[in-house]
Amino acid sequence: MKRAIYPGSFDPVTFGHIDMIERSAKIVDELVVAILNNSAKNPLFSVEERVSMLKETAGHVPNVKITFFDGLLIDYARNIDATIIIRGLRAVTDFEYELQIAQTNRIVNSGIDTIFLTTSLEYAYLSSTIVKEVASYGGDISHFVPKQLIPQIYEKYIR
Ligand code: ADP
Repeated sequence: MKRAIYPGSFDPVTFGHIDMIERSAKIVDELVVAILNNSAKNPLFSVEERVSMLKETAGHVPNVKITFFDGLLIDYARNIDATIIIRGLRAVTDFEYELQIAQTNRIVNSGIDTIFLTTSLEYAYLSSTIVKEVASYGGDISHFVPKQLIPQIYEKYIR
């Protein structure tokens, strides 16, 4: 069985992430969407909130599991017997960093390969950071995230 891991912060999940999940789930037998539980990144949403947002919006894909992890991705991938890491590439700015991480991971564990999917054009501009920036000013985020998540996101900015 081909098990892949799609790691990220998903703070919050966007249409870009959901598109990546739907597309990569077609390539592998099982896709584990794994939220990095890294407090150093100072996330807006707790890991529990991010799990529930992902379950709500990507739970319809049958071969997808939603989970979270601490520590090194490559160790977690080995622990769950994943042999593929999926990452998205939006622009050349993503590339240099992603290439370095992928090469480092190959040195640490050559049994695990990274596969990059290029972003769908309509989501090439989209990031969780953009969503938070627009939401913090009360702007319209309906083009960025599924509508059931919108109240939860605005709620974080009510003073
Ligand atoms: P990280 O902090 O690990 O970059 P993100 O949640 O920002 O976590 O992104 C997780 C993964 O999803 C990354 O591989 C990123 O490149 C990809 N991704 C994020 N936004 C998009 C998008 N709009 N289109 C395609 N891939 C995306």
